[in-house]
Parts: sequence; structure tokens; C-alpha cells
Amino acid sequence: MDVVVCGAGVAGLAAAHALGGLGLRVLVLDKQREIRSVPKGELLQPGATGVLAEWGVADALDTDGALRLSGLVARDPHGAVLMTMDYGALPTERPWLLVHDYHVILGALIRTLPVSVELRRGVLVRELVRDERGRTTGVRTDGGDLTAALVVAADGVSSRLRRGAGIEVARVDYAHRLAAFELTDQAFGDHVSTYATPRGLAMRYSLPGDRARLYVQVGPDELRGVGAGGAGGWIDGLVRDVPAFAPLREDVARAWSTRQVLPVGRALATSLTADGLVLIGESAHAVHPAAGQGMNSSILDAAGLAARLRALDGDLSPDLLAPPLREWSTERRQALAHVGTTSHNATRMISDLSPLVRVLGRRALRKTGGNQRLRYTIMHNMAGLGQHSLSPLDRLHQLGVLPDPRGGRLPGWARSR
Ligand SMILES: Cc1cc2nc3c(=O)[nH]c(=O)nc-3n(C[C@H](O)[C@H](O)[C@H](O)COP(=O)(O)OP(=O)(O)OC[C@H]3O[C@@H](n4cnc5c(N)ncnc54)[C@H](O)[C@@H]3O)c2cc1C
Repeated sequence: MDVVVCGAGVAGLAAAHALGGLGLRVLVLDKQREIRSVPKGELLQPGATGVLAEWGVADALDTDGALRLSGLVARDPHGAVLMTMDYGALPTERPWLLVHDYHVILGALIRTLPVSVELRRGVLVRELVRDERGRTTGVRTDGGDLTAALVVAADGVSSRLRRGAGIEVARVDYAHRLAAFELTDQAFGDHVSTYATPRGLAMRYSLPGDRARLYVQVGPDELRGVGAGGAGGWIDGLVRDVPAFAPLREDVARAWSTRQVLPVGRALATSLTADGLVLIGESAHAVHPAAGQGMNSSILDAAGLAARLRALDGDLSPDLLAPPLREWSTERRQALAHVGTTSHNATRMISDLSPLVRVLGRRALRKTGGNQRLRYTIMHNMAGLGQHSLSPLDRLHQLGVLPDPRGGRLPGWARSR
């Protein structure tokens, strides 16, 4: 094999597509015998969808009935609009959010893998295999060692390969969790709604098959041990805090027994590469899910890596491989740091429960919503179509401390296209 990929989540499968597309022989290993259904990674941004289209995955998802949502709306607890991001205004062939269940997205990635890729399930990777100079030369499994010129660690948030390589990652867990409910017989329109509520963040959007996803911010132990008997009281409290959810009362009660409570955190590894090894996806980075960036970043990691390795024309000998891996790591880390900061700032505006941040956050949402230049810049960044940082002056415009004379038009870089 040229490449062994550990992990068949979205990151590992994206790596297999990107590297297999270069004609490399890729073996993907996953410890799970079957794909598990987890309520994470359902919104695909246009930047990632463009890459998926090149791999034939976007068509496969269309066949699977993926939904196209027109954008994001931030709302107050009564449902009144604070800010709208209309993806239709984006300069891309696919100006929408593509939505499907994580396991369906994985299924579409698998169906369309290049012929030079082999996927083996039920194989636990125990550790990295390294030569006498510490260079990674393969992986150890219970069935024996597998040798490859490049190992891709796509083994998720608690990556044992990352730990084995001694690459550090500082993870900061948010003080809250997200409770995920899958609602049935629901149609929420064609956009993602994010609610700024007294209990923090809540989010809802349609899923294929007349279903919908509802995420509600909860304390770490808020739902622990709350059985069906306690559900009514909790739902009453939710509706008190978020009157817009009153029509959902019975649907949430129906979804109670299948709810999942997920921890959320942010992280970025100190490097995305070591000799003969790269980290992709959550083994290297994580952001709060509210910004819908994690899966998209994983897909762009893989596409960027393949773009760097294309010039090697299939020759992955160590001396040739090291320089493009280092360049990719440096370039990609910068992009991921930007995604991490912008996702954290956006999330904090809604999820932070301290009175001052809540007041400033609501104000920033309204002011940003009324400022075409800032709104477009943030939407363009979130969509994964480029990176345009906000300046300290922009922050003052966002808070309404200073009026923005350019707020009524598109940013200069967008107009000059
Ligand atoms: C609540 C929530 C909502 C989210 N919503 C979105 C969203 O809307 N949009 C978005 O872009 N992102 C979203 N994300 C983030 C997204 O889910 C992750 O970024 C993405 O799933 C990471 O994929 P991954 O392949 O790195 O990891 P995983 O999906 O965790 O895959 C890792 C794989 O590695 C395998 N593995 C692990 N260890 C080994 C081993 N030793 N040997 C063999 N196999 C191994 C595992 O079995 C697994 O299949 C969300 C996250 C959460 C928590």
C-alpha cells in the first residue's frame, strides 16, 4: 500500500478519496464493523460540497435525498429574526447547505471511493510502526503489521495514533453539552434556525424524510437520570425559555427516549504532520458544532493534502514526501486556527450565559444582521469559500459602538470579483 488510513469517519474517507484520486493505493481501516448512527455532522457547507462534487459524492447524496437549505437565521426566543444569512448570494455553483444524516454521508463517501481504495472494517489499529530513526512506516493490527509510505491518522477525537506520535493537542471543553433530539413529522422550512435563548444556544433544521434535528444547550448533568417521568417538567422549562418551541412540545416528548447528549470542545494539534504521518479531521482539530465547520474542515484537509502531493506523481519516498507535508501542515494549521477563532467567537455570542456577554451577543447579532458588508464576510467564511478576517474596527461596528459607513454594501473584495 502507498497509504494506510486509520479511521473511516468523514476525515478518513475524504483522505481516501483525495489520495486515491491521485492513483495511490490506499487501505482504510476502521475498528467498527458497521457504521453507527450518531447525530453529528449533518450540515455540509458549499466549500466542502464543491470538493464532494468533484469526487462524485454530491451526486450520490442527491440520489440519497439530501436536502438543500437556503441559509442560516439567528432568532430570539420568540422566533423573531435577528440576522439572516442568505446563501443564495454566495459566488459558488452550490449556494446552499447540503443536509443529511452522518451515516448517510459516510455511506455516499464509501459508494464512490476510487478503485485504488480498499476499506476493511472490524480492524483495530493498535499503534504506529516506526523505524529505528522514529519515522512512521506503518501500523500494527491484531492481524499483523501493515507497511505504507504514508499513514493517515483519521481516528477521531481521542486519536491513539496522534498520542503515539507525541503530537500535542490542547482541548478546551465547553462548560455545556448539546442535547440532540430527532423530531418526526416536522418541516422547518428551508433554512437552519439558531436561537439565542436564556438557556444559551438552540438550533433546529430539517432532515430528509420529514424529520428535523433539534439541539438544545444543556448543563453537563442537566439530563442525567431524567427519565420519561421527568421529561414533561424539562420540556415545560424549555418552552418557558424558548416560547418559539411551544409547537414542538409533543415531538420532543416523543423523541425523549432516543435523545443523545454530546460533549463539545475546541482543539488544534501543534502540528498536522510527523515523519511519515499526517493527522486529519478530529484527530487534529475540533470546533463547536454550532458553526457547522468540523466535517467541512476535514474534507478541506484532505483536498489540500492531495493538492500538495499531486506534484510527486505517485513517488512517496521519504525525502520527497517530507517537504510538501510540512508545507501543507503550516498552511492548513493557519486556516484551521482561523476557523477555530471565528467559530468560537460566533458560538460564544449565543452560548455564553454570563449577563454581559449575553447582552453584547444579542446586540452584535442585530448589528451584524443590519450590516451587509460584515454579514456577507462572515457568511463567506462560514461557507468555506475563503478567509477574510474581521478587523478590530469591524468588531466595534458589530457592537454598534461606531457606525459603519460601508455597512450598506458588499465588501470591496467581493465587489471587485
Ligand atoms: C453534536 C455535533 C454536531 C456536529 N455537527 C456538524 C455539522 O453540522 N457540520 C459539520 O461539518 N461538522 C459537525 N460536527 C463535527 C463533525 O461531526 C466532526 O468534525 C467529524 O465527524 C469528524 O470526523 P472524523 O472522521 O475526524 O472522526 P469520526 O467521525 O469520529 O471518525 C473516526 C473513525 O475512526 C475510527 N477509529 C478510531 N480509533 C480507531 C483505531 N484505533 N483503529 C481503527 N479505527 C479507529 C472510529 O471507529 C471512527 O469510525 C458535529 C459534531 C458534533 C459533536
